[in-house]
Amino acid sequence: MAEWSVFCYNTLMLHVEIEIPHPVETLFLLFAAGGVVVWMTWKVPGQQVQASVTPRPTSAAPAEGEGGPDRQARMLALRSAEDDARRIRTEQTVLSQREEILRYELKIVEDAASRSGDGVSIRIAKEKLLSLLADERAAEEQFRQTLQEMWEAEGLSATVAVGSPGDVRVLWPVEPEEGLSALFLDAEYEKRFGIPHHAIDIPVAQGSAIRSAADGVVDKIVDNGLGYSYILVKHDGFATLYGHASAFFVAEGDHVRQGDVLAASGGMPGTPGAGSLTTGPHLHFEVIVNAERIDPLTVLPARPEVHQGRS
Ligand SMILES: [Zn+2]
Repeated sequence: MAEWSVFCYNTLMLHVEIEIPHPVETLFLLFAAGGVVVWMTWKVPGQQVQASVTPRPTSAAPAEGEGGPDRQARMLALRSAEDDARRIRTEQTVLSQREEILRYELKIVEDAASRSGDGVSIRIAKEKLLSLLADERAAEEQFRQTLQEMWEAEGLSATVAVGSPGDVRVLWPVEPEEGLSALFLDAEYEKRFGIPHHAIDIPVAQGSAIRSAADGVVDKIVDNGLGYSYILVKHDGFATLYGHASAFFVAEGDHVRQGDVLAASGGMPGTPGAGSLTTGPHLHFEVIVNAERIDPLTVLPARPEVHQGRS
């Protein structure tokens, strides 16, 4: 027990004297009590935050206010990081195979020459491929460029095909007289070019008419010169993309009916619209539903006579 004695020296000052029987023990106890108070002040608010978040799953509407957009932003950032990683991997794969791809494309051109196609464009294509084979750096740059163009096409098509995919009905944009040269997610294609194939490839003579697979509006025309060129058409709740176009006969914003001629086909290596990753003269055809490319064969009319193509 403390003994108190209070002296008042003047009106301003108050002197208090306390006599403590066990000063060391008392000091220790005071420090311990202070420590508990400090611990409580930072620990308790943390528990309160946790308590306000954890009971959320019982409510019908999920946390939209605080955690929602932040979490969404983190997920988008993660997704774009995954996309970047995937792109870098793809680029490395394609670049490591570029000589093999160029030799494959050269063989296609020579085969076409022996079947007596368009002599001038075949000669130009052959010269171009040979110069790329000789100039490693130019070839590398061209492959990078084509990959960039293909990824841009992927991004564009994902933003266009939104809405209800209730009734996806399409017609063949070119006649599949020779069958298909690459299927949707074709393993052979991915092995050869190092990228997954989210389309079907329909071999047709260079310059064949590409027809709109359904009624719609021409959303985008991308003419990349000798790079990968394409046309994107928006329909009711879905979209279609026609790749390796060598010439365009419509303009962006045009309304088109099913069967209208949109463009001329291409795909012969080294010619306009072909780009650096091609299986020879053909139409690369994509169907996009809800930002995802689906297998066009699941929505195209069946063709019993269609057989697996030459490649
Ligand atoms: Zn293709």
